[in-house]
Amino acid sequence: MINFAVGPVQMDEEIRAIGAEEVPYFRTPEFSAIMKENERLMKQFTGAPEDARAVFLTGSGTAAMEAAVMNLFTERDRVLVVNGGSFGARFAKICEIHEVPHEEIQLESGRALRAEDLAPYEGKGFTGFLVNVHETSTGVLYDMELISDFCRRNQLILAVDAVSSFLADPFWMGKWGVDLVLTGSQKALALPPGLSILVLGARAIARVQETAVRSMYFDLRDYLKNGERGQTPFTPAVGVLLQLHKRLTMIEEKGLEAEQARIRCQAEDFRSKIKDLPFEIVSNSLSAALTPLHPTGVDKEGKVVSAHRIFEILKDEYGIWICPNGGALADTVFRVGHIGALTPEDNDSLIAAWKDMQRRGLL
Ligand SMILES: *Cc1c(COP(=O)(O)O)cnc(C)c1O
Repeated sequence: MINFAVGPVQMDEEIRAIGAEEVPYFRTPEFSAIMKENERLMKQFTGAPEDARAVFLTGSGTAAMEAAVMNLFTERDRVLVVNGGSFGARFAKICEIHEVPHEEIQLESGRALRAEDLAPYEGKGFTGFLVNVHETSTGVLYDMELISDFCRRNQLILAVDAVSSFLADPFWMGKWGVDLVLTGSQKALALPPGLSILVLGARAIARVQETAVRSMYFDLRDYLKNGERGQTPFTPAVGVLLQLHKRLTMIEEKGLEAEQARIRCQAEDFRSKIKDLPFEIVSNSLSAALTPLHPTGVDKEGKVVSAHRIFEILKDEYGIWICPNGGALADTVFRVGHIGALTPEDNDSLIAAWKDMQRRGLL
């Protein structure tokens, strides 16, 4: 099996080996030291300021999205949400559930955010901004410089979901004045799912301290307090945290830029190899994490080939997984990931499968 999904993704052998070991007891100085290292490296790789803190939550990326909204905003805020796909819609839904007043900036599928989209909200009394820097459902990477300038001018608390962008694209928390950034374990971190990480800057920490969250598990004050001694309030995903430590240490050895370059090369290699296949890239601002494609070919019966059918044929007949889309895009768009332990040779196998499908009149 070759996995080009966007998460969970293929893991390095060293990481998988840790998953096969017994899970140790964790209220120990040894585990605390590992957690402190995890915090240091997560801050380093998100470009966080020195006084930032990292929080480790056992729950997938959506848990971190919800924790961010619950801990940063209340019914007294007015939050802008960029909604260019299903992850933007998820932030809006979380605001709705927690009764955080919000407005959505709706973008058509595949389109990047422009200055004109933000202009109507200038000086309108908003207090917060929520964005998924890479809207994974459509494969659009938003312009963080644009967002950062807007938020600074309007003094907004800026919280960024970088779940599928972290490690694939450069991220500069300090430079962009991001107050909170969050990510998850199963995307470019290439770990098992179940862990999410939030990095909070000074303003976000202050907000967390003054917000009375109506939840036990999602009260980040407890995580910040316990984190001071390298611990978590409840039993965390200990095994995944050990794998995280290994992965972050491996990246530190090569350098963050080398890991980002590896993913970018994997993406560029793929994009150069699909030039004569019947696909169209459907985003005007790409992340290195994935390529969203719209099939334009017709099958031997003259019918336009469905994106979901291509996913099924690859899975069932070639042992290759790509990432289908849900909802309205299910038949028209599929995505190919470039994150995880993939190589250019894996790209060759996928291209060869598509060429074979063409020969069979399926593409
Ligand atoms: C994958 C992803 C998430 C997290 O989804 P989970 O299924 O909860 O892990 C959140 N935001 C974005 C942009 C993602 O790509």
